[in-house]
Amino acid sequence: MSDPITGGCLCGKIRYTVNQPLQNIIACHCTNCQKSSGSGAMHNAVAAASAVTFTAGNLKVFADTAASGNTLNRYFCGDCGSPIYSQRATMPEVMVIKVGTLDDSNHMKVTMNIWTKSARPWMHIDLATDCYPENRAPKT
Ligand SMILES: [Zn+2]
Ligand SMILES: [Zn+2]
Repeated sequence: MSDPITGGCLCGKIRYTVNQPLQNIIACHCTNCQKSSGSGAMHNAVAAASAVTFTAGNLKVFADTAASGNTLNRYFCGDCGSPIYSQRATMPEVMVIKVGTLDDSNHMKVTMNIWTKSARPWMHIDLATDCYPENRAPKT
């Protein structure tokens, strides 16, 4: 891929680039992601933190507590509230990018659904994808 992938928040103050291909989307149906996204699921893509560069804006962070009891830092735009990425406190080398903030995600595909046990009945889940009732560790 010659051009880096770009993304940003709704108001445009936060901008970032990703210097690695992003293909797979993991939909997380946990209740915390439902609240954070304001939707039925958060659609995530796993990236190496070293591949992500923030070119504009200042992120705010909310230290969420995952079901495991570990801290999950959720980074968002303090001006418009768009969730941008999340990161396990114990895995700073991995960033979980919120796919809706990418400028162009048309080539990507949902390949995995996690926390399906808390998925809302009105959310469509493609059962041909990898489905897990609870979490599965992110891989880069
Ligand atoms: Zn913003
Ligand atoms: Zn979640």
